[in-house]
This record gives sequence, C-alpha cells and structure tokens, in this order.
Amino acid sequence: MKKILAIHTGGTISMSQNEKGEVVPNAENPIAQQETIMEGRVELITDELFNLPSPHMTPVEMLKIKQRINQGEKEGIDGVVITHGTDTLEETAYFLDLTLPSTIPVVVTGAMRSSNEVGSDGLYNFQTAIEVAADDASRGNGVMVVMNDEIHTARYVTKTHTTNVATFRTPTFGPIGLVAKGHPIYFQQLIREDTCDIDHVVDHVYLLKAYAGMDASLFDALNNDQTAGIVIEGLGAGNLPPVTLPAVQRLLDHHIPLVLVSRCYNGVAEDIYDYQGGGIELRKMGLMLCQGLNGQKARIKLLVGLSAGLQGERLTEYLSTAVS
Ligand code: ASP
Repeated sequence: MKKILAIHTGGTISMSQNEKGEVVPNAENPIAQQETIMEGRVELITDELFNLPSPHMTPVEMLKIKQRINQGEKEGIDGVVITHGTDTLEETAYFLDLTLPSTIPVVVTGAMRSSNEVGSDGLYNFQTAIEVAADDASRGNGVMVVMNDEIHTARYVTKTHTTNVATFRTPTFGPIGLVAKGHPIYFQQLIREDTCDIDHVVDHVYLLKAYAGMDASLFDALNNDQTAGIVIEGLGAGNLPPVTLPAVQRLLDHHIPLVLVSRCYNGVAEDIYDYQGGGIELRKMGLMLCQGLNGQKARIKLLVGLSAGLQGERLTEYLSTAVS
C-alpha cells in the first residue's frame, strides 16, 4: 500500500463558518481528522505543520514544508499532499517545485468553501489530491496543484477568482490533466526545470506592477542597500513608461537584479518593442526577461535563485530559461 504524507498548513480547507457567517480558523483542523478517508487504499501519515491563513505564509514556512518533505522522502514515503490556503497557494507550490528534486509526486490542494459550508469542496479536493499523489502516472510532473478535478502545474497555475470553486486556472497552457473516477488522466507533459536545493531564504525581494502614468517613486523607494531584487510586472509584452527609466537605471547602477514579466494574464514577456521604455531598451539596460511566469511566481524564482547564491550571468540564465 502506498504511503502518503499529508502536510496540513491551514487555509479555508481547515476553517469553519460561525453563526454570523464569518469564516474562522479552528483549533483542531477538521481535514486532519479525516485520517480514514482512504482506508484500505493508502496509508496516510498526517503532519499538522501549521494552522495559518495563507496570507500569513512566508518563504520561511515554505522552506519548512520543503524540509519536511525531504525528511519524509528519507523515511520512504511514496507521495505528498499539502493542504494550504488558496490565496498564496501558487507561491508555495512553485517554491516547492523549484527546490524539490521531484522524485515522488507532490500535490498541493485547498478549498474555496470552509469545512461546514454547504457544498464544501475541502474533503473532496483532499481525497482527489491523495489519489493523484498515490498514482504512478503522477511521477515526474513537478509539483502539481489539484483542485476541482483538475491537475495543474505549480509553475503556471494561478488563482483567478475570489470565491468560485473553479478558481485555479493555467493561462496560456491549460491544465496538464484531469481526475476521473479517482484516477489522474494526463494529456500534457511539463518540460522539466532544474531544481535548487536551498537551506535558507533571502529577504527583501519585491514585486512592482506597472501602470499607465507610473512614475519613478516606487522604484526610488526601493533603491537602498537592503533590496535584494525586484520583479516588475511590465505593460503588455514587457514595456515601461519612459518616465520610470532613470530610476530603473539607478537601481541597476546599485547592482539590484531586476526581472521583467508581463502584467497580462496570457502570453509571455518578450523584447518586441523598440521605443523609449520598450522591451528592447529594457533588455539592453540589463533587465532579465522571465518568460511565462506571473509576477508572484517570478518573485519566488528570483528569491530562490538569490537564496542559492546565483549572481550575474548565472542568475540571468536561471531566470530567463523556462526550461533547462
Ligand atoms: N484566505 C484563505 C487563505 O488563503 C483562502 C483560502 O484558503 O482559500 O487562507
């Protein structure tokens, strides 16, 4: 029988609605009490690592989850399911994707409706995630996000709706599989990415979003010795208002790594435009174009790369290649 490690970290999946209709955390996680859910089919090992709403999650907790999985692998587990709040689920999932060797299936799941609400999706998603983690076909897909009978890659999935149970979507590429009758069916394969085995996480990695009329203020506010790196969600294919360029140059002169992604929901950042502030000029200035990742994912990748000690050309290569 497959041994699956269930790591619970909190989120709506672990919460309940009170008499006033407010969703509140529980002292006891109701999902963690469901140890018999797969009785006779898998051996479930439960670890209630955290009980945090996911806006309270930081890279420090993400690293602890990674280390718990490393420990589980040494103990001979066959797969991992992590329950997590959906707000920052994609960031934790991608952090794990970048830092774990992917020898066993790792699946992250959550819920949009708390445990005692009508139509609660928590237990169902938990069960489905276990089924995916226990299936041999799930090996080698990197970290996956399983919700609402869909299997998404941690690399490209994103939360798209504040309340709908079908919130997780993979723009541009789509999900890699579905769950039907308790079994995963895969119809796409992820091109693998190198992993970095980090043992600490750096602070002060920021994310800025460009907008029409943006000025230099936010860039200048981050121009200090503490800033380790900045991801900029550029306009369209990856462009910035010209008025920001002197401040961008000051950051580069300060040797602060700058990564450019697109603020668009679909597509990838590219150096297409040759006008003031266009992607061609930004690349020539020294911004690293990161293709296919949204801002919050690119920030996680920059943070992992910096935590691994990558600099200069090696950091640029790490961030610019979606695959290696
Ligand atoms: N705000 C909640 C959280 O991320 C939402 C959820 O779990 O779905 O913890």
